[in-house]
Amino acid sequence: MGLILTGVGVSKGIAIGNACLLNRDQFEINEYVLPKHLIAEEVARFRHALATAKKQLKAIHRKIPRNTPVDIASFLETHLLMLDDSALSEVPIRLIKNQQCNAEWALKQQRDGLVGVFEAMDDPYLRTRKDDVDHVVHRILRILLNHAPQPFEAPDNRLTGCIVVVEDLSPADSLLMHQQGIAAFVTESGGVTSHTTILARSLGIPAVAGVRHARRDIQHNAVVIIDGQQGLVLVDPDEQALRYFRARQREEKRHATQLAKLKNQPAVTRDGVTITLHANVELPDDLYALKRAGATGVGLYRTEFLYMNRAQLPSEEEQLHAYLRIVRGMKGAPVTIRTLDLGADKMLNGYRVDMQGAANPALGLRAVRLCLKDLALFRPQLRAILRASAYGAVRMMIPMLAAPHELAQVMVLVAQIKQELMEEGHKYDEKMPIGGMIEVPAAALMADAFAHQLDFMSIGTNDLIQYALATDRINEAVNYLYNPLHPGVLRLIHMTILAGHKTKTPVAMCGEMAGDARYTRLLLGMGLNQFSMHPAMLLEIKSIVQASSLADLRKMARKVLKCSDPDEINALVDKMNAWS
Ligand code: PEP
Ligand code: MG
Repeated sequence: MGLILTGVGVSKGIAIGNACLLNRDQFEINEYVLPKHLIAEEVARFRHALATAKKQLKAIHRKIPRNTPVDIASFLETHLLMLDDSALSEVPIRLIKNQQCNAEWALKQQRDGLVGVFEAMDDPYLRTRKDDVDHVVHRILRILLNHAPQPFEAPDNRLTGCIVVVEDLSPADSLLMHQQGIAAFVTESGGVTSHTTILARSLGIPAVAGVRHARRDIQHNAVVIIDGQQGLVLVDPDEQALRYFRARQREEKRHATQLAKLKNQPAVTRDGVTITLHANVELPDDLYALKRAGATGVGLYRTEFLYMNRAQLPSEEEQLHAYLRIVRGMKGAPVTIRTLDLGADKMLNGYRVDMQGAANPALGLRAVRLCLKDLALFRPQLRAILRASAYGAVRMMIPMLAAPHELAQVMVLVAQIKQELMEEGHKYDEKMPIGGMIEVPAAALMADAFAHQLDFMSIGTNDLIQYALATDRINEAVNYLYNPLHPGVLRLIHMTILAGHKTKTPVAMCGEMAGDARYTRLLLGMGLNQFSMHPAMLLEIKSIVQASSLADLRKMARKVLKCSDPDEINALVDKMNAWS
């Protein structure tokens, strides 16, 4: 048996192939002061490098095959926007002019400053945005330093079937490698939320990230197995391991083919109950993945991604345009647009939240609280959502509701904006449903009161669980406590579902729990009939719905809800899941 390395499984799937070690160019950056008369030439050299980087990215963008998940394009577009952003297009030029430094040095100084800002952020998603800065800077530096193209940039297939082992990958590089037919990749850095790994998931490339010293421990050309779910990398495996993983690989392919057949089938239980399966989207371009999964609606459109990675806030028109791409694409199916869920810890380039006194950002000024405090931020979004409602089945959803007065304030604003739009001659749906996310424990406890005021509710388990258990899921010191099956969490979920049934208010779930196959049967048994999840999970969940009978599940769920022992709950859930 060879060596077993572990990392974070960021994109599921088994791959077996030969390792191809790629070293990122190590840049020797000389730092020198230029004489005054060479400054103009240096500025021109920098501008030329920027323009070339842009040309390269546009060429890669043009090559994106039509049938690949479209969020790929948006990652490249983000990098293109960064090349236009003054932080990279103007500040280095100012440094060249003011400090008379060479272009590489100016760029490096600016890179270090930007990366420092991102690294100081609490939010893990935003923290990994420093990778975007690095990828873009890296591309410009390669041009400035006249480095030869990387193997994957050549128009051949020398990486076909390889398992690429690298320190880090940019989304553009991974796209080029995908086009060369790589089998998988292993990176030393990166985590679940880096754009490259999000991309790997969309492209279906198995990937393990965060494998320390991978390039030291894996020899070029060595046979490697990767398990992108478990985060395992087996180097020089023996025959037995190879046989085992080949069999699993075949089984996975067979399963994926079976699931693909369910796309156009209804999600109906064995005893004839139809379950609604919607998808969560983050970018208008996610529409493709959603269609491929056969989702019958959008249960959560996280609009904050429209606001990120940019210097200015999106205008009303820009938001309207983005919303309409989804609304038109869904052709009359429901689209649930969630109003901005930015937190005190999530800062945008063009917008800063006052951090004073924010020792606990997760309990601070975020989501609807922030929006109600800053109407200049909130109003354009409400206007855009209302205007989008004239073109399809738009529903608006408010995140982080904790107190009824927040909802009342939103309702007043919506009424004012409707009046305004009418006077301006804009169309909107007078009856646009307004729902709320139940993700604060207090809101779950008083879901019946909220239900009377709302057209629908959606349980946000990601936050509900972390707030109910006072456990930050990404804090390694305590995340062993993060448990969707905690009896307290299950009771909050059940209370919300019951409040919905009692008041005839539809209740959905749109947190990660809704897309986790382990919990589907329990949730069905608890009376949940609407799920919204990442499109990649939808067919798997549909297959479970189709293989379940609600009558049996209800009995078991009742038993689970009476339990307070986590082991007993786990055992009951396992039992439910084992039913054929
Ligand atoms: C949730 O909290 O479950 C949810 C869906 O919202 P987000 O993950 O965007 O906070
Ligand atoms: Mg949430």
